[in-house]
Amino acid sequence: MSQKETYHKLIKEIRRHDQLYYGAAKPEISDYEYDQLIKKLEEMERQHPEWVTPSSPTQRIGKALTKGFQEVVHSVPMLSLANTYSKEEVAGFIKRIHKLTERKEIAFCAELKMDGVAVSVRYEKGEFCQAATRGDGKKGDDITHNMKTIRNLPLSLEGKHLPEILEVRGEVFLPIREFQKLNAEKQEAGEEVWANPRNAAAGSLKLLDPREAAKRDLACVFYGVAQDALHSVKSQEETHHFLRMLSLPVFESRHHRLCRSLEEIMEFAEAVEKERSRLPFEIDGIVIKVDELKWHPILGSTAKSPRCAIAYKFAPQQAKTVIRDITVQVGRTGVLTPVADLEPVFVAGSKISRATLHNQDEIKRKDIRVHDTVVIEKGGDVIPKVVLVDLSQRPKDSKPWKMPKQCPYCASSTEQREGEVAVRCPNSKCGVQSLRRIIFFAGKGGMDIDHLGEKVAERLFEKGLVRHFADIYTLTASDLERLEGFKEKSIQNLLNGIRASRRVSLARLLAALGIPYVGAGTADLLAEKAGEIKSLMKMSKEQLLEIEGIGETVAESVQGFFFDPKNLGEIEALLNAGVEIEKPKRIPKEHSFFGKTFVLTGSLSGLTRSEASALIKERGGRVSGSVSKETDYVLVGDEPGSKCEKAKKLGIKLLDEKSFKEML
Ligand SMILES: [Zn+2]
Repeated sequence: MSQKETYHKLIKEIRRHDQLYYGAAKPEISDYEYDQLIKKLEEMERQHPEWVTPSSPTQRIGKALTKGFQEVVHSVPMLSLANTYSKEEVAGFIKRIHKLTERKEIAFCAELKMDGVAVSVRYEKGEFCQAATRGDGKKGDDITHNMKTIRNLPLSLEGKHLPEILEVRGEVFLPIREFQKLNAEKQEAGEEVWANPRNAAAGSLKLLDPREAAKRDLACVFYGVAQDALHSVKSQEETHHFLRMLSLPVFESRHHRLCRSLEEIMEFAEAVEKERSRLPFEIDGIVIKVDELKWHPILGSTAKSPRCAIAYKFAPQQAKTVIRDITVQVGRTGVLTPVADLEPVFVAGSKISRATLHNQDEIKRKDIRVHDTVVIEKGGDVIPKVVLVDLSQRPKDSKPWKMPKQCPYCASSTEQREGEVAVRCPNSKCGVQSLRRIIFFAGKGGMDIDHLGEKVAERLFEKGLVRHFADIYTLTASDLERLEGFKEKSIQNLLNGIRASRRVSLARLLAALGIPYVGAGTADLLAEKAGEIKSLMKMSKEQLLEIEGIGETVAESVQGFFFDPKNLGEIEALLNAGVEIEKPKRIPKEHSFFGKTFVLTGSLSGLTRSEASALIKERGGRVSGSVSKETDYVLVGDEPGSKCEKAKKLGIKLLDEKSFKEML
């Protein structure tokens, strides 16, 4: 196979994994293995930049918007559906359709109603080119840059009968597990949590920086086509098949059904509602559409909604119960989270005995107290939330709940940082925090050690076998024999998992260390800039702030982390225990820009300032805002400012655009 064939095969493989990631099937490879495939692709593209097309998986993340969102006028308006909670109104809808079409036999397509954000996506000649939100129905926001980061959105379509222009309609959503992960991170950082996955998805699409959006792991699904010019597709059922053929993500076949009567529609609704709590994403009902598309324009629309469809929504999954007690959990960064212990109750088929209360502000706002009778609701969280308190049933002697002034595990006095809602245990030696840190370190977002999940970590910690990260790497078979239920096979599995995690990228190690405010994306930025952990340790706050995407909070947190001798000891112990950090990609030391400091002034004709900066940084140079004795070159464009004068005085070498380009 030629190298180019290998390249295209690799792209195909990555696309397949992108589809599996959210599709019906489970992902076949770990996130780590996926990242390795992307890295391999990037390497091939570095050697052959001429092969790269805009639809390569490496091209998903573009530049941040500077001026906010542009407006997009929809070619066909995006109307929202009329909705109802009542079966009677669905019956009324069917009667109305029979009357308007003057037919007694008319088929309906019933399908899932996603609880996400409606989007319109445009492909030209099969290539993704634009995406927009619904907005007011006539015009929405251009979210092309963030939509592109969604892994299961194909950037180019496959199939034989590709229309010249195709505008598809669908929904962007945050899978429930991603929503939980995101909220857990927000909670650890002392930030306000998202109320539900829909809000989180909407907020993510409105981020100005696609790098931030990419971290959110959004997904999309499509169920409609905007143009009525598509004569080949005659019905809503066919639309699902048509979209699937083009390789767009669509509903699974059991999630849309052709129905001919109210009974059949309600049967489908029941089946969906039964499955609802097991779905990996949120839905809030079903949509019923006249199946034959030719009727849609004939039926027309009211001021707000099309007449050809209606949404039948499920009642929220709520139940009433009593709070037995409010306990406090301590996370790996010391954040205290209050949790309600409930009188067990069934909601949507599962037994609920706990509900998260998020933080003390939330408890105060809803005035939640021990022994209160409350309404709980099961949303995207595995742990449901308390919606409201039934004050009529409140015991007379009830008192407002207060966050403990001491950590429930180590009894240290708690602290609250200015501007944060979170209350923390400040004791870095707090046992439960150590355990939480170890669980995080070994977990998916950290070193991703196979067979070292939460339960195993707890047992290793309790037995005193693992107290620090490095202890994991010195575990022996005879240590593990002491764990109850650990047999030859499970011991070998765990040791293999640990061994496989020894070689690690700097970015992954940084994420695993659990530095406050440093998630996977930030760890990437730090690793890329520093190259080696030793250099990162030595970086000043100013140097950290120079990294694009790193702000004040992160810079302070990183510096504070490496300032703590305990953390330095932990890293050294890891290295001594055989953890090996993979060599970073080489910065071209031979380039004449390497290690040199540039100042830019005036406007360039062929480049923007940020493009010029990027070119300098790629070659190992630095860009500074002001001229000093440390400046090596000043790149002078048209109408230069005072920086040029100062450079002349200091005798610093001036470069014009032409000689700059030659030096590149
Ligand atoms: Zn504590």
